[in-house]
This record gives sequence, C-alpha cells and structure tokens, in this order.
Amino acid sequence: MSRVLVAEDDSEISTLISLTLRMEGYDVLQARDGAQALALVREERPDLVLLDVMMPHLSGYEVARQLQDDPNTVTIPIIFVTAKHEMEDRVLGLSMSVDYICKPFAVPELLARVRAALRMRKLQEELRISNERLSRLAVTDELTGLANRRGFEQELEDEILRARRFGQPIAVTMLDLDRFKLINDTWGHARGDVVLQAFARVLQSTSRRVDKVARIGGEEFVALLPTTDAVGAETFAEKVRAATEALEIPGTHLDGTAAPPLRVTTSAGVAVATHIPDIDASNASIANALLQQADACLYAAKDAGRNRVVMRVIDNITELPLDSTSGPIGD
Ligand code: GH3
Ligand code: MG
Ligand code: MG
Ligand code: MG
Repeated sequence: MSRVLVAEDDSEISTLISLTLRMEGYDVLQARDGAQALALVREERPDLVLLDVMMPHLSGYEVARQLQDDPNTVTIPIIFVTAKHEMEDRVLGLSMSVDYICKPFAVPELLARVRAALRMRKLQEELRISNERLSRLAVTDELTGLANRRGFEQELEDEILRARRFGQPIAVTMLDLDRFKLINDTWGHARGDVVLQAFARVLQSTSRRVDKVARIGGEEFVALLPTTDAVGAETFAEKVRAATEALEIPGTHLDGTAAPPLRVTTSAGVAVATHIPDIDASNASIANALLQQADACLYAAKDAGRNRVVMRVIDNITELPLDSTSGPIGD
C-alpha cells in the first residue's frame, strides 16, 4: 500500500483529498502546516507528498526545498496542489520530480496524477536497486564471491594511499594454483571450479578482515595485507600454502563414480614494501610496481619447483620502475 502525505492548511480541501485517496486504498497522512509536513516526511517516509503552497509557518516551496536538500528525502516525489495564480516559475526550478494540480481540481485528475507519480517512483526505485546490484556485480567474482580484478584494483590504490599517509608497511601476495590445467583435464572443468571455490575459502579464512582478497584471473588470486611487515606476510602466505596442500576435495570421475579426494597445491609470490616514502609517483603506479614484484616472485616460486613461497622485501620503493605503463596483472 502506497503512503501519501497530504499537506494542506484548508481543512475542507484536506479532508476531500484524504477521503478520495483512502477510498482508492492509499495510506494517507495529513499535515496542517509546512513544519508538520516536514516532520512527517522525515518520520514516516511517504511515497508521495501532496503539497499546498500557501501554508502557515513554512510555505510549500520551502518544504520542497528542504526535502530536496536532504539525501534521505530527495527522491520522494512532490505534487503541488495550489491555486493557479499562486503557481510560480519557482516550481520549475526545483530539480526533484514535481507535478502540480490547480485548485479547484476534478477528482479523476487528482487520482490520475497521484497514480502517475507513484508509478514513476516505483520505476525509479527498481532502477536504483538494479543499479546497486550491477555495481556490486561489477566488482565481485561470481564463482567465488571474492572481489574481482576491478574491485581489487580500486582497493589496492586506496590502501597504498593509506600506507603512504600513515607510514605503514603493505604486502601484496599473488597466488597461482599449481598444474591446475591438469586438474581440469583429468576431472573436468566443473570439479576445477569446486577446487577454485575451496581455495577461495582457504584464502578468506586465513586472512583478516582488513585484508583484501580477490580472484584476478582463472586460477590466480591476490591478497593485499595492509600494515603487514615481512614476517606477517610470510606467515600468511605459508599458512595459505600449507592449508591448500592439506585440502581434500571430494573427487568424482567424469562418469560420475566416486574417486579418491582431489589434491592441489599453490605457489605464492609476496612483495612487501616496508614503507612508502613521500615520492612523486601516483598510487596507481606504486600499486602496479608492487603487483609486478609479487608476480615476479610467484614465477620464481614456480621455477623453483612450485608449492612454495618466494618473498621480496622492498625497503626503497624508488628502486622499482614506477612510471612504467605496465600491462594487466597476471597471465
Ligand atoms: P602452473 O603450475 O604453471 O600454474 O600450471 P597451470 O596448469 O596451473 O597453469 P596454466 O596457466 O597453464 O593453466 C591454468 C589453467 O586454469 C588453464 C585453465 O584450464 C584453468 N582455468 C582458468 N580459468 C578457470 C575457471 O574459471 N575454472 C576452471 N575450472 N579452470 C580454469
Ligand atoms: Mg493553503
Ligand atoms: Mg597455475
Ligand atoms: Mg595461471
């Protein structure tokens, strides 16, 4: 049931409008002046406000302006109900969704405008929810629920900024499952996906809440550990490595029959910046440099036989190529 606030100081008109709307099934609130209207909107959050212009204490225009200035009420549509000669250009200057009805009005016209305003409100609300969902999806990896590459890149830059401001260390860990293609080839892609999900849970349960964990490629993951030094970062990466090695993922042959549990290992490359001095480089270029270092360590771990952690501690970040316009992370 839609809730409509009728703000009108003339009690006869107020009663007429309210009765008409109640008979149509609307939940109606009534205010006798502008101040009361404002208070009721803030308390009750109606779906629509029918607003008289000439009212004691606070005019309808002033009420509309204040609702417009408040992010909590700016989307509530307003219909001015007023004598034609009172209607001014000011209404058109209001950017909120506004309609108006001139007194005296015919009941069918009033109802038609109310319905139209509520329909528009509903569409806008649906659009807002769907936009929120889309922006969440845009930064989330569907398979694992972790952040995706885009979500991670946003967070990494924010964390670099924080590390610079507070003079704290920061660690970036890149992880890549070992011989993962073999798992897919042997057990099928669907089983491979289950392994990726299990690995994502290992990362999540090993990391702290302030850490940012993401899946940035097929079987490539990254963990950003703010305010973490070399000892902390190595401990983290080693824990993930050991927990992954200990994972037992229930196996099924491609024909559906039971198989021994699946096992997987991971390699990890860790880049730790002990501090980030106040240098002339963008957060993005520092982020990229750290990712490249972690990536180089990861490939060193692969070269050295996989299922291991390789770390590089960077005391002086200016040694890194900071302004290179490096390509995408991973693969
Ligand atoms: P290495 O130890 O050198 O990392 O070997 P690898 O086999 O893991 O490396 P490679 O990069 O050759 O293979 C990665 C494989 O990951 C290839 C592809 O089959 C698989 N893969 C990529 N994305 C997905 C995904 O979303 N789901 C599944 N199941 N597999 C994926
Ligand atoms: Mg009035
Ligand atoms: Mg791999
Ligand atoms: Mg890979």
